[in-house]
Amino acid sequence: MPFDFTSTTFGIREERLGSLVGYVGSIRDLAEQSCRGSLKDRGRCFSQSSSCDAGCAMGYITHIRDVAMINHAPSGCTAPASAIVTMQTQLADKRSLPYNTVVLGTDLNESDTIFGAAAGLKQTILETWERYKPSAIFVTTSCVSGIIGEDVDAVISEAAEMLPVPVVPIHCEGFKSKVWATGFDACDHAILSAIVKPPQKKGNFVNFKNFNESARADIVEMFESIGVKTFFLYSNTTIEEISHISEALATVSICGTLCSYLGNGLLEKHGVPYINTINPLGVVGFEAWFREVGRVIGKEAEAEAYIERERAIYIPKLEQVREKLKGRRVVLGMGSSFAFQIARVVQELGMEVAYVTSWHYDSRYDDGNPPPHVQHLAASSPVDFPVNIADQQNFELMNILNTYKPDLYLGRHGGTSIWAIKQGVPAIFMADEYMAFGYKRTLSFAYTILDRITNRSFEKNLTARIKLPYTGWWYAQDSGGMYEEAR
Ligand code: SF4
Repeated sequence: MPFDFTSTTFGIREERLGSLVGYVGSIRDLAEQSCRGSLKDRGRCFSQSSSCDAGCAMGYITHIRDVAMINHAPSGCTAPASAIVTMQTQLADKRSLPYNTVVLGTDLNESDTIFGAAAGLKQTILETWERYKPSAIFVTTSCVSGIIGEDVDAVISEAAEMLPVPVVPIHCEGFKSKVWATGFDACDHAILSAIVKPPQKKGNFVNFKNFNESARADIVEMFESIGVKTFFLYSNTTIEEISHISEALATVSICGTLCSYLGNGLLEKHGVPYINTINPLGVVGFEAWFREVGRVIGKEAEAEAYIERERAIYIPKLEQVREKLKGRRVVLGMGSSFAFQIARVVQELGMEVAYVTSWHYDSRYDDGNPPPHVQHLAASSPVDFPVNIADQQNFELMNILNTYKPDLYLGRHGGTSIWAIKQGVPAIFMADEYMAFGYKRTLSFAYTILDRITNRSFEKNLTARIKLPYTGWWYAQDSGGMYEEAR
């Protein structure tokens, strides 16, 4: 596996995983080309703005609740700080935990781009320690610090010698990668290189990598029923807690995109097994995942007993709602893992996948194998449905929705769902990563869909009162024709 934890930098997704943000084809072509290693990123003749890996890194590392994060960047790059801290504070508050993390920026200006800002960065690090006494200080980089060639590592080394806590760079220059999920890897590289200690003993717990831990109580109870504890990361964690994740029985995750670097990195560096089956969304995903968890940690019989109990409760109820959803056509727009995992759930619930648009695609994960959920879906899908890869290019999505006219749009990440609704398509914004987790939530998800497609008055009323910026000319264009030849 391509890890080098002696270096402060790491390979971006395009280099490590053959990731792309431009593709038009089908689920079976995507799966086959992933195996052959022949997928090539395609350029666009026009592109809307998207997100950057620096924003992703800032949002993810600040889930830890006792650190300082200094963004070595112009003030605009640090603008999301207030929203990030507000959300993280609310997540901590839900569990009655203090959230003491602070986000700071060095506010690079024109003069800094010419003369450098190394002295200012060092002063900011030392002042941050004096004022806040965090358990660790992370320094995130930006396009500007990268373009001017600021030697951030040298400054950090100097400052670290003067402080009793880790001071760690997170190299996430925004122009570094076209795939914002590279920001997750930047955080995980920093954590694995500088925070995680070698195991002292084996603990009776699994690492559960997720975003906002909304299903925490149910998952804790589920693992307790097979005699194992759960450690969720990074939401609401501390540096001391994270330093012990090398002692886990295994690492599991709600999302393959999110956990490839940490899961495979922990396996390579400390021998912690990583469960890299399809993810636990829908019944098929949950059962494949939980059986593998049971096998890896030596709890096969307990896992099987849990599955049997839950099936008896939920499968008959799922069958009932499945009948009502049968034949409904769905377009999905989500990140690389959820797009294809939720497409599988859509088919499990008796609906048809009309189109999948994924914000990026990793041709392989850090274990060298193609994403298992795409291989699984290509083999199990009754039809070879169309797929495109586009980093939240809303104008392409509007064209797709107009062409395929689905009964429902399922979106993750803010911004796309409202455009579907404005076009008259019922939509669900799946912000909660656990919306289709396991039996109970898959059933709840099915009823949410039923509600949404039954009562359509909201989008009907909205559509009747607004004028969209898109013309008939745009809707008549073939969305597959917007790409230049493969590069
Ligand atoms: S790091 Fe670069 S891409 Fe990201 S917000 Fe700053 S300038 Fe924009």
